[in-house]
Amino acid sequence: MIKRILVTGGAGFLGSHLCERLVDDGHDVICVDNFFTSQKNNVAHLLSRPNFELIRHDVTVPLWLEVDQIYNLACPAAPGHYQYNPIKTVKTSVLGAIHVLGMAKRCRARVLQASTSEVYGDPEVHPQPESYRGNVNPIGPRACYDEGKRAAETLFMDYHRMNRVDVRIVRIFNTYGPRMHPFDGRVVSNFIRQALAGQDVTIFGGGEQTRSFCYRDDLVEGLIRAMNSEDLIGPLNLGNPDEFTIRQLAELVIELSSSRSRIVQQPLPADDPVRRRPDISLARKHLQWEPTVPLREGLERTIAWFRTIDVEHYRPPTPNY
Ligand code: NAD
Ligand code: UDP
Repeated sequence: MIKRILVTGGAGFLGSHLCERLVDDGHDVICVDNFFTSQKNNVAHLLSRPNFELIRHDVTVPLWLEVDQIYNLACPAAPGHYQYNPIKTVKTSVLGAIHVLGMAKRCRARVLQASTSEVYGDPEVHPQPESYRGNVNPIGPRACYDEGKRAAETLFMDYHRMNRVDVRIVRIFNTYGPRMHPFDGRVVSNFIRQALAGQDVTIFGGGEQTRSFCYRDDLVEGLIRAMNSEDLIGPLNLGNPDEFTIRQLAELVIELSSSRSRIVQQPLPADDPVRRRPDISLARKHLQWEPTVPLREGLERTIAWFRTIDVEHYRPPTPNY
């Protein structure tokens, strides 16, 4: 059935792909974004579609719309972006959640929160199941994001329990792919941009820390399945369980880019998680979902996209924010 669907943060890396999928599926899609970490370019190709609408709006301010489903993705996601204005990051997570939950309550819409593996902080349990309560430093430089997202999860569950709002909470693990902001400072975008420019590839710390990288198409499929699942509120992990060290990632990116870049070491940022890998048993069982794109293949596609863009058109983060 065709639905009216709001995607906050819909012009971003993940949001723009989600909008694309939903528009192609025939839904009436409203994308709300303030373009803090994204460009209109990401959704320019959708503007001519009759079932797509773009609204420039900041989710810290309430918005009145009539919709059936809401995907709440608005939030800077890369460490460099969310630490740029940490107070604003907390406001975006918390006020943004309150505003979409209020809208969902009024419209009786289903609302999905794009939460994060960062709610587990620097995890002591490995891999991370949804039942793990995490190890977050509440006063560190990552806290604006981690605690903002944790507070948003709290709000989602409280609106669900108190007002019977139909919620879904999804914890997304590191996801990469075309349309990542080339200067977002995330490891995949940094390494590819550096490798293609023949610059040094910067490993923070010894490079033995691990992450598990999910290709964006797999992730977007998981988001849509989670939204439309009838029996699973969450929280639910979505990510690729294949775990790599950051050094392995650097070597693979250099190989696939046919680059002559050297690997250099830089200091490890504070509170950088040592290991991260999702336990996706719940998603496998309830959504019959698991990633299908291996890292090598996803990186090839991402590198191909990075070769097509002019990085001069991108700047970190928007100065007028
Ligand atoms: P992104 O930065 O590309 O997208 C976020 C979007 O939200 C951008 O378009 C940005 O302009 C918009 N936005 C930020 N603040 C806003 C505000 N106050 N009002 C309106 N719009 C605002 O990042 P992404 O990787 O696409 O992440 C999307 C969502 O998924 C985020 O909520 C993020 O926390 C979550 N997530 C992503 C990953 C990942 O690896 N990509 C991992 C965990 C969670
Ligand atoms: N990282 C790195 N070099 C870079 C950027 C990041 O070694 O140029 C490391 C970072 O310290 C972390 C990992 O890569 O250990 C993933 O970082 P990212 O910012 O992509 O995501 P997150 O830390 O939020 O998982």
